[in-house]
Amino acid sequence: MEFGSRQVKSLPPYLFSIFHEKKKKLKQQGIDVIDLGIGAPDLPAPSFIIDRLTVEAANPDNHKYAPYGGCEEFKQAVASFYKKHYDVDLDPETEVLALIGSKEGIAHLIRAVIDPGDGVLIPDPGYPVYQSAVHLAYGTALPYPLDRQNGYVPDYQLLVEEDVEKAKLMILNYPGNPTGATVEMETFEKAVAFAKQHKLCVAHDAAYDLVTFSGYKAPSILQIPGSKETAVEFGSLSKSFNMTGWRIGYAVGNKELIQALAVMKSNTDTSQFLPIQKAGAAALNSDFSTVKENNRIYEKRMDRMLTGLSEMDIHADRPRGTFFIWAPVPKGYTSQGYVEKVLDEAGVILTPGTAFGKKGEGYFRISLSVPEERLQEAVNRMKIMKAGEHSNGP
Ligand SMILES: *Cc1c(COP(=O)(O)O)cnc(C)c1O
Repeated sequence: MEFGSRQVKSLPPYLFSIFHEKKKKLKQQGIDVIDLGIGAPDLPAPSFIIDRLTVEAANPDNHKYAPYGGCEEFKQAVASFYKKHYDVDLDPETEVLALIGSKEGIAHLIRAVIDPGDGVLIPDPGYPVYQSAVHLAYGTALPYPLDRQNGYVPDYQLLVEEDVEKAKLMILNYPGNPTGATVEMETFEKAVAFAKQHKLCVAHDAAYDLVTFSGYKAPSILQIPGSKETAVEFGSLSKSFNMTGWRIGYAVGNKELIQALAVMKSNTDTSQFLPIQKAGAAALNSDFSTVKENNRIYEKRMDRMLTGLSEMDIHADRPRGTFFIWAPVPKGYTSQGYVEKVLDEAGVILTPGTAFGKKGEGYFRISLSVPEERLQEAVNRMKIMKAGEHSNGP
């Protein structure tokens, strides 16, 4: 590429677009590829949300620019959700901001709070956007390791003092992508205390807040007393309401951070289409029965996949949140080597753990976003793969 800034040119290619290319090629060869690599729900958005969108889209009043920070109805719905679900009080005017999906919110927050060279503590393994957004903001990504043996929570003892001094922001993500890790309040308590001690801010990415199982309820970082002095939380309707393409999410918490993000955004975008915000409000004001139904579907898929994996002698933890299974690769393989073998010999796309950071080595991620029969088919194909070294494919 001749044009493009240094930062853009030095960004590694987005992993999922590489897979997309490979999948297209295999499909052209007539191979029935099962894609367990995509981190998005396959289920449709609930009809009551679509109905609200349709009604609002027909009203010309909704065709104008929306207010910068989001419309009142949406911000109020976010605040009501926090009150009802977490018993957290939020001022819709100053502590809530509508987003065009949480991905842009996270990227813009990073740009809004760091100066060139500043550090951002990001989870490793973690959602790849954190690293690239820090890079594009001329910041320094400071990956902190998450390990299976301590439940994928930050170990502050392991952080280098120099990094901590450099850091202006710490990002957390629970239920976590890719690990499926879930936490109790104590993890957030420690993060808030750490942030206050070292004068940094915390952003908690709660994209999977409602995608939970087995009676587990994911806490909000804003439930920690005093957290609003340092923390913001990102929420999204993408995963819980199967609305990835709709692009609607929110940021809540610390007023100054919300204001900084609002300034960044009002100079970049002009909020989401009003009918989508209003449909999003309907989702947040609902009884969440559709979310529970989704979760039941994921849980059944999860059981089927975990059973299949254990029959292959792959022992993954059963997650209490997200629709991902984070599994160790069989002995003798690297993440990349195993994932390539499975694609070549079984026509199944998995995501190598290394796509999420160095600490992802030794793992692969399975997304449960295909129907049960397809998951079973994937298991059946993986079971009959040749044992041993990576072959050169079909
Ligand atoms: C999917 C995902 C997001 C982005 O969600 P949008 O609201 O659709 O932008 C953010 N964080 C994590 C960890 C995700 O997996």
